[in-house]
Amino acid sequence: MIIVMLPEAKKEEIDEVIRRVKELGYSPHPIFGKERTVIAAVGDERGKYRLQILEALPGVDKVIPILSPYKLSSREFKKEDSIVKVGEAEFGGKEVVIIAGPCSVESRSQILEVAHAVKEAGAKMLRGGAFKPRTSPYSFQGLGKEGLELLKEASEETGLPVVTEALAPHDVKLVARYADMVQIGARNMQNYGLLQEVGKIKKPVLLKRGMMASLTELLMSAEYILANGNKNVVLCERGIRTFETLTRNTFDVSAIPVLKELSHLPVIGDPSHATGESKWVLPIARAAVAAGADGLMIEVHPDPPHALSDGKQSLRPEEFFKLVKEIREVARAVGREV
Ligand code: PEP
Ligand code: MN
Repeated sequence: MIIVMLPEAKKEEIDEVIRRVKELGYSPHPIFGKERTVIAAVGDERGKYRLQILEALPGVDKVIPILSPYKLSSREFKKEDSIVKVGEAEFGGKEVVIIAGPCSVESRSQILEVAHAVKEAGAKMLRGGAFKPRTSPYSFQGLGKEGLELLKEASEETGLPVVTEALAPHDVKLVARYADMVQIGARNMQNYGLLQEVGKIKKPVLLKRGMMASLTELLMSAEYILANGNKNVVLCERGIRTFETLTRNTFDVSAIPVLKELSHLPVIGDPSHATGESKWVLPIARAAVAAGADGLMIEVHPDPPHALSDGKQSLRPEEFFKLVKEIREVARAVGREV
């Protein structure tokens, strides 16, 4: 951390900053310049006592952090890629893991049909929402516990592990009982109570980027989960809000290499929620894999025009078959496999 003093700072003010830096457990290294004094405070600034509070002292202009504000999720903390295992699926290794399934679990026949189709096509995990975060309280909210039971049945029939969303802290234990991986949706990325709850469970967590969240904020949210004891976190870029209105969101392809550089955690892409349009899912899926994504999350529905949520962006099983074939080629081109 660097503390920059104002040009008019008095000697007593500089001495007081040096005294406070020591008091907080850091070693101060002042540099007395012609115009200004700057004080380098050496020590791990992400500890309990944040030096940022010194900004309030008289004579201080600004306090500039040097290290990233997240620790456990950073590459500085762990150099090698983390591998997150969910059943047979492994995120962060050579394989590009494809997760597929409907936006919402709607019925027994729907989820079983999709589960069998996506498995046959090459998906390694099944998705499906039982607790749905809908913009309108009048839209389909999901089947709740019944949806979890149906997902479990589909998982047992196909052998595919399942991921599904927990919407509220009080649902986490129930969801974790049925699911192999618990999803935190974009709208909940900064629900810190929920992040703390999933930090305390043993099941891996799929953390989706908030639609208005920076990458630093996403990594700070991952930090909440890691700091609470759960080391199995997979990050997901699912598109952010921009001024563009022709797509549902704007897929931030650069998030993938940037997150992989800053963090050891696996990163996947969700081109379905990013584009909001089934015909654009494949090109964006290709881009994500080419950019280094460790996996994809794709919405698939047997009858998209009758889907209870996100029908417009859902692929039919035969379209999903084609997507997996094409993604296999892209993966091969970048030294990965599907
Ligand atoms: C979902 O995956 O079903 C979902 C609601 O996605 P997001 O949280 O990214 O909008
Ligand atoms: Mn959806």
